[in-house]
Amino acid sequence: MRTATRGALAGSAVGAVALALVVPSAAEASATRSVRQVVPDSTAPSRVVVPARSLAEPRPAVVERVVIGRSRRGRPILAFRLGDPDATRSAVVIAAMHGNERKPQTILRTLRDGRPITGLDLWVVPSANPDGVARKARRNARGVDLNRNFPRRWKRSRRGVTWSGPSAASEPETRAMMRFLRRVAPDQVVSFHQPLYGIDTSGTGNRPLARRLAKHLKLPRRSFSCGSGCYGTMSQWFNHRLDGQLVTVELGRSPSRAYLTRTAPTGLLKALGGTRS
Ligand SMILES: [Zn+2]
Repeated sequence: MRTATRGALAGSAVGAVALALVVPSAAEASATRSVRQVVPDSTAPSRVVVPARSLAEPRPAVVERVVIGRSRRGRPILAFRLGDPDATRSAVVIAAMHGNERKPQTILRTLRDGRPITGLDLWVVPSANPDGVARKARRNARGVDLNRNFPRRWKRSRRGVTWSGPSAASEPETRAMMRFLRRVAPDQVVSFHQPLYGIDTSGTGNRPLARRLAKHLKLPRRSFSCGSGCYGTMSQWFNHRLDGQLVTVELGRSPSRAYLTRTAPTGLLKALGGTRS
């Protein structure tokens, strides 16, 4: 059941407010001036920051930048739209939902900062858990494992490395991602993790997409069990609620720089149906 309409997110039903964005993280702060900048709700600050370095470092692949929500500590969660908004195929790629699994961020940033993309309407979210990334920790600032906090098959669990939180979708990062995925309604979603090394084929993951990802990312297809059983994961929620398919990709512990900046970005685009001009 697809509910979102494609096209720019600005002015959509969630009340986006154009031209209001604060970007405190220098690492994420240099999109081009011509890029549409949007925050998704009226509670966000209205100060506009256009970093000086943006003029010297244009990002020709980026056509839109959106703050999809804020972390528990108030850090913005940024999504970058790359490529062709009118393409028939669409995809969202997510990294660092676990803040100590940061290597895949390089793949997304390489695509974001590279050449224009054609044949695919692609969004990348390089830092889905910015508080965890800042602390190099798996969980968010409240100690919740965001990949156990989604409302599909959510259950209470012990406070620990996979704590599912006090209730389903209790965390702002979880709600931001749900809202964003509902609005974009992508055909394909890839969620990057580490370090189990493989393409997850368990659950309802799209078999053809999993096959393409395995081939082009040069990873084995495997079935991961979430350790103590899967509950409240993003893939369980997405694959049950939306039309597209989400596949979880686990890189190894120490992928090489060449893999992260060349093999994987190129392979990911191929698997999703896009090319770089
Ligand atoms: Zn993970």
